[in-house]
Amino acid sequence: MFNNLSDKLDKALHVLKGHGSITEVNVAETLKEVRRALLDADVNFKTAKEFTVRVKEKALGQDVLTTLQPGQLMVKLVKDELTELMGGDAEGINLSGNPSVILMSGLQGSGKTTFSGKLANYLKNKKTKKPLLVACDVYRPAAIDQLHVVGEQIGVEVFSDRGNNDPVAISQAGIAHAKANGYNVVIIDTAGRLAVDEAMMTEISNIHKAIQPQETLFVVDSMTGQDAVNTAKAFNDILNFDGVILTKLDGDTRGGAAISIKSVVNKPIKFIGTGEKMEAIDVFYPSRMADRILGMGDVVSLVERAQEQFDEEEARKLQKKIAKNQFGFDDFLKQIQQIKKMGNMKDLVGMIPGAGKMMKDIDIDDDAFKGIEAIIHSMTPEERANPSVINSSRKKRIGKGSGTSVQEVNQLLKQFTQMSKMMKMMQGGGGKRMMQMMQN
Ligand code: GDP
Repeated sequence: MFNNLSDKLDKALHVLKGHGSITEVNVAETLKEVRRALLDADVNFKTAKEFTVRVKEKALGQDVLTTLQPGQLMVKLVKDELTELMGGDAEGINLSGNPSVILMSGLQGSGKTTFSGKLANYLKNKKTKKPLLVACDVYRPAAIDQLHVVGEQIGVEVFSDRGNNDPVAISQAGIAHAKANGYNVVIIDTAGRLAVDEAMMTEISNIHKAIQPQETLFVVDSMTGQDAVNTAKAFNDILNFDGVILTKLDGDTRGGAAISIKSVVNKPIKFIGTGEKMEAIDVFYPSRMADRILGMGDVVSLVERAQEQFDEEEARKLQKKIAKNQFGFDDFLKQIQQIKKMGNMKDLVGMIPGAGKMMKDIDIDDDAFKGIEAIIHSMTPEERANPSVINSSRKKRIGKGSGTSVQEVNQLLKQFTQMSKMMKMMQGGGGKRMMQMMQN
């Protein structure tokens, strides 16, 4: 995420590291580079200019004569300003209605349908919410099918009315259906066009007026940079929406949309989409995003994602198995599946402080586990439960079955043995010993 921008900012801020104090000259030089980095990332021109003016004022102001090194001080000022620019504190969505109605808006292809599903899934997992999805795209039958597929995937009902071509009537019928059937959140997916046009704006505005949603969200593809900002402006003029959803942040996006959108439309970014899977949704925290942009990682989000996937019951079972030396390849497979649910690998690595920068040129394949999974799937249940029975002829068979080589099978077996040993050691109070060893 934002690799290029992170790199350039790092270089710009590095200039000050060798200096003993902040002067007008070195601040101006640094900020010129910072501004250039922002513009290259497709940040709105006015936003970038105001950004550097504000940082400069603070850097040269009396109140910053602290004990911090100039380099560190500048990083802090840039971080604070980036956070402020992206919205300060994180803002949730209004779920006060019964049902709470959430209207999704945005261009075609921005990720509205995918996000509607992600949000429904996210709310459903909160246990107190029972969401209903409503399909209001009357122009593309495929769009209705797509929402049904998504709904089935996450176990959420989808309301649609294929013969009806009045989206206002469908959305009202959807809300009535929710009331009658005990749903407390209604997410309305609407039709988008490839570009802003009057007919689309009139339609979404009519739906908005008719149903008066608690929350109107504008979904935008972050890869579209400045266009994203302009589209946001057009939708906001008509809808006065409550928040922005930035999708496709897992791609090679430059960051301009994330940084400029709040300052241009003065509406907070509420969620981000970081992949095509239903789990790839995150609450947007401006301060954590600023950390990531500056290559400081985002450990808090990483831990939260791990916690979301953490199942206490499963963990207890696993501990027992490890203690009894019964940890097998089926358990290993389960662990891999949990890690995969946390999101794409590149995104996860980017959350580790310093790692994103270090590993930016290494292509982290999201299919990294594919080979391992194939090998395990080629094992018999007996072999999975008791890997020590895997002799050389079995290795050959497994290699053939999984399309890998005997060496790869050997490597996995070796890694598995090492891992099992390590887990055993961690359990026997060895974890503490290991920590002590590392600290000394
Ligand atoms: P809609 O026309 O606005 O409803 O957009 P869709 O939900 O159909 O999304 C368009 C395409 O973008 C689909 O191929 C989605 O899988 C993809 N997509 C949506 N959100 C994300 C995201 O956060 N990351 C990535 N990589 N792809 C996404």
